[in-house]
Amino acid sequence: MAKPVDSDMASRMASGMASRMASGLKIRATLLEGRLIVAVGDITRFSGDAIVNAANSGLLGGGGVDGAIHRAGGPAILADCRTLRATTLKDGLPPGHAVATGAGHLSVKRVIHTVGPVWHGGSHGEPELLASCYTSSLAIAASEGLDTVAFPAISTGVYGYPREKAAPVAFSAIRDFLSDHPTPSTVYLVFFSDADADVFLAAL
Ligand code: ADP
Repeated sequence: MAKPVDSDMASRMASGMASRMASGLKIRATLLEGRLIVAVGDITRFSGDAIVNAANSGLLGGGGVDGAIHRAGGPAILADCRTLRATTLKDGLPPGHAVATGAGHLSVKRVIHTVGPVWHGGSHGEPELLASCYTSSLAIAASEGLDTVAFPAISTGVYGYPREKAAPVAFSAIRDFLSDHPTPSTVYLVFFSDADADVFLAAL
């Protein structure tokens, strides 16, 4: 059973300002009985079982975190994406769905690509699609036995999803999945800046 948010206040305060470094990332808070870690840094430096990519439907690379992951991981990730586009995903990956590839030079076994919704005001299914990104990615992690998985803040960059609105959607989707599944044991939410992590923590 996941703890309710309020009872996580103590552990959040305990970690407080005394940030720890792990996996090349700064730890800002530990929630859900240690199973959800809020961190700050470059997700391409994460060392664990998998990172999630905020991809676009074409799967052939883009800007933001997508570009960073392909640059750091090298051409093997793009080669896997091209194979997917030539076989099972001829029309691309729809928003809310996820698919895994190899991870090239990254310090993880797999990259899980998911396509977030573009923000169109919030009444076009955006929250459901964003939740589905987290749930679909976690389902792949569970089925492949990937125990430590790091997510970026999907859709909150170029796709324009307001950070304070994305926060409770991401948190609820992760909490609900973890309450039903032992794997992954630990999920990292990796924000690019302390300010972004602050917005997430304040919005819970
Ligand atoms: P989207 O198209 O889904 O909005 P973006 O890549 O534009 O995807 O942005 C998603 C989030 O990833 C943004 O909050 C952005 O600040 C963050 N981001 C960009 N590069 C990195 C990185 N190297 N590590 C972690 N987060 C990153």
